[in-house]
This record gives sequence, C-alpha cells and structure tokens, in this order.
Amino acid sequence: MKVFKNFVAGEWVEPSTGNYFDNRNPADLNDVIGKFPLSNSTDVERAVTSAKRGFELWKATPAPQRGDVLRKAGDLLTARKEEIANAMTREMGKPLTETRGDVQEGIDTAYYAATMGRQLSGRTVPSESRSKWAMSYRRPIGVAGLICPFNFPMAIPTWKMFPALVCGNSVIFKPAEDVPHTGTLLVEILLDAGLPPEVIQLLHGTGEDVGAPLVEHPDVPLISFTGSTATGSMVGATCGRMHKRLSLEMGGKNAQIVLDDADLDLALEGALWGAFGTTGQRCTATSRLILQKGIHDNFLGMLIERTKALKLGDGRKKGTDVGPLINEAALRKIEHYVDVGQTDGADIVCGARRPTGAGLDDGLFYEPTIFSRVEPGHRIANEEIFGPVLSVIRVSTADEAFAINNSVKYGLSSSLYTKDVNLSFRALEQLDNGITYINAPTIGAEAHLPFGGVKQTGNGHREGGWEVYEFYSETKVGYVDYSGTLQRAQIDMYLGTPD
Ligand code: NAD
Repeated sequence: MKVFKNFVAGEWVEPSTGNYFDNRNPADLNDVIGKFPLSNSTDVERAVTSAKRGFELWKATPAPQRGDVLRKAGDLLTARKEEIANAMTREMGKPLTETRGDVQEGIDTAYYAATMGRQLSGRTVPSESRSKWAMSYRRPIGVAGLICPFNFPMAIPTWKMFPALVCGNSVIFKPAEDVPHTGTLLVEILLDAGLPPEVIQLLHGTGEDVGAPLVEHPDVPLISFTGSTATGSMVGATCGRMHKRLSLEMGGKNAQIVLDDADLDLALEGALWGAFGTTGQRCTATSRLILQKGIHDNFLGMLIERTKALKLGDGRKKGTDVGPLINEAALRKIEHYVDVGQTDGADIVCGARRPTGAGLDDGLFYEPTIFSRVEPGHRIANEEIFGPVLSVIRVSTADEAFAINNSVKYGLSSSLYTKDVNLSFRALEQLDNGITYINAPTIGAEAHLPFGGVKQTGNGHREGGWEVYEFYSETKVGYVDYSGTLQRAQIDMYLGTPD
C-alpha cells in the first residue's frame, strides 16, 4: 500500500509520530487509497521554522514572477485535470462531473492569481503639504496557516493558497483528513511549477493535533479557516487572543424560495442540484426550500418524483447522480437529524434510509431525503445538517419567505425564483446573505467574485475575486517629504482658513 508523506523544509518527510491513518474511498470502504501521516505539534514546529525561511526568500521575489509560478500551476492543473478529478472522486465521493469542476475552479483561480501579480496596487494621493508625496502599497504578512474542509478538496485550498502566494506569503497547508490525496497532488503541482520548496509546507493529520497547534503558533500571524462554525469559533477565540489576522468561512443553512409566478421547471432543476449536488455537502447547499402556497403542492410533487429517480453510486461510474457521504460520522449525523425532524412533527415524503443493493453496501450512502410540513422553528429548519436532507416550508407571501430566510443564524447564500423584476432587486437588498442568486440555485460560485457569508457564516472577509488579496497583504503607507523643512501635518497644526 502506498505510504504518503508530509512536505516540510523542502522534502517529503515522515511525521515525527511515525503514525499513519488509512484514507478510504467512501463509496467502497474496502478500497484503501493509501496511508497518510498523523502529524503533531513537533511537525508544526518544523514546518514553521522552514516557512519562515521560505517567507524571506519569497517576499523578495517580484510579484509578477510570483504570478508566473501560479500561471504554470494553472497549466499543470489543466494537463492533469482528469487524473486529479479521478483521485478526488475516489477519496471524496462526489461524481466526476463535479470533481472536474472542482479542479477547474483551481485552474481559474490560478490564472486569476497570475494576473494579480501585476495588479497588487496601492495608491498615490495628494499630501496636505507642499513638496511631499503620500502613498500606500501592499506588502506580505508572513507565514500563512491554511486550514481546509473536505468538500472542495482542490477549489478551497487554491482559493486560499494562490492569493496568499501571489501576495508574497509562505504557506503551511493543512488539508482535511478525509481528502489528503488531493492536497498532496496540489503541492506536487506547485513544486513542479517552480515554487521554491520552503515556501510551501504540507502537514497531514487531525484538527486537534495539527490544526490547533498551527493556530496557536506565535510565528504564524495569519490563519485562513474554512469549516464548521463550531470549529471556527474555537479558531477565532485563539486568534483573537493572539491578535492574528483571521478569515473564517463556516456553516450555512441556505434557502431556495419559489414564488407562485416562478418558472417551475427551472426552479425544479435548481432545487435538485442545490439540495442533492455534492450529496448536500456544500456550504451553499440548499437545505431549506420555501414554497409559496399557490405552487406548493404541485412543486413538491414534481420534486419528489425527480428526487426518487436520482441514481446513487460510485461517482466514477457513468450515470451516478449522487455519491456517498464523506464518513461514518456524517452519516450518523444525518440519521440523527432525520429522527429530530420526525420528533418535531415534520413529514418524511421521500428517502430517509441507507440504501442497499449492488455497489451500495460497502459505501456510505444515504437516500436523498425530503421533509414537508417543516415549521421555521424546527431544528431541521435552523441547524446545518450537511447532507442530502431538504426541509420544505410553506408560506403565503414573498415577505414571509424573506423573513424566514433571514431568521437563521447563518447567512451564506439564498436563491429566489420569480419573474417579478422588482421583487428580484428587493430580494438582493433584503435577503441577509453574502450571496443571493435570482432564478438560479444557491450553489455556483465563480472564481473571480468574492465568496463568503454574513452572521455566523463568516467574520467579514471574503474568499475569491479581488477582495481576498487585501486579506493576504497589509497596507503600508509611505510619506516622502522633500521640502527640506519640518512641515507639520494638519492633525498637528492647522494653517488653513481660520474659524
Ligand atoms: P471541520 O470544521 O470539521 O474541519 C475543517 C478543518 O478544520 C479540517 O481540516 C479539520 O481537521 C480542522 N480542524 C478541526 N478541529 C480543529 C481545531 N481545533 N483547530 C484547528 N483546526 C481544526 O469541517 P468539515 O467537516 O471539514 O467541513 C464541513 C463544514 O465546512 C460545514 O460546516 C460547511 O458549511 C463548512 N464549509 C464552509 C464553506 C464556506 O465557504 N463558508 C465552504 C466549505 C465548507
């Protein structure tokens, strides 16, 4: 069996613990992809020491040259796209069409980042004084600790890593323990693209033994975390105490609203894709479907029929619509919430069981599940389940739908299906989310737009697009006074028009 390593101080190395874990295919638990390191704080210490050297080298490399490395990484990702998509489906489960998209997001992010190497601009503005220039520029921060979730094994690490690198930081990358192989392939690609080895470190292992020591390390001034709100809260507390720069992207409870005037066929495609794509394991997954009363019964009937026809199976097999859950704990969590939903009084109208049959018995499958008669106060209408479970809520008016959308503690994405243009713009204004889609599902981020959520989904930063470059760099202001005299700024002495 293949034994994989960490990448630290420019070498592929064993973990200091000497211990490894099995990475298994969730569609077939008998299929072991390989053994991956169980690292600990000693490995974190070594990685930080190396990354500090990498930072000194990399920050002195001109940003356009840093961008050239990312362009090459984009080319290599393109060349190896099919191989990586296959590896990703094998360790993570989602169908090949989706893992190809996940790699494509990495490619798009690489090419965007490459151009940003020539655009990390500051500003030059007039000074209050004569013979004096006032300007700002952006400079790197240091060693960036990047902690990633399992559901987008390529896209999310590249969202963090590529901007961090173009801005001149070195990185320590901790992939989720369920997807270590894709993380390893990404590091291989960056090294092949010409990234100086000490600029990147890869540490495999658990959140407790690798993630936490990384967050707590005093020489890691920047942490970017994507994962659950519970873990993000702990990360946030540590970073707050240690005054670290922190980006948090966390849970969601996203709603698709369908109003009486909507194109129902279009809304149906959106609901199926939003709720059951990636087996519901997307931060932007549709987990609430808010239906206006005029179309409620008809639309629910259409949805049940199509949901029952979804084909579960190995994501590498042609015709598979829905893959397995990521691990046994995820499956148990879903079963727990299915019990909770019933106890609270909602009706199961489809799914709600582990399927059996050829190709399913050895995997972590769960049938796409729909609850009807869900009330806004029910737990399944408020808590993130992160699986193929959809809660359907009936409303009378658009205003009621908007209020229910806004009533949860999360605020990542929302979607509205209507033909009313005025209502569409009102939704953009009133729905309390980082992203709102009109006549499109709750999922579908584009690499060149900012991505993130409000309330307990995020902490005000965004991944992607132009905004993320501000997170990975620091503003430095320079004043150059060539007057040869002491000129006091207006804050010290105002010499303008008297009162
Ligand atoms: P998770 O919180 O269990 O793990 C995320 C990462 O944090 C993993 O690498 C894990 O090892 C690490 N970790 C765990 N404990 C840690 C600790 N104490 N200190 C530091 N690191 C620690 O999340 P997950 O199950 O991998 O991913 C699913 C969650 O991620 C969902 O809640 C989903 O909504 C969220 N998510 C959010 C976004 C977004 O952009 N908002 C995107 C994808 C996923």
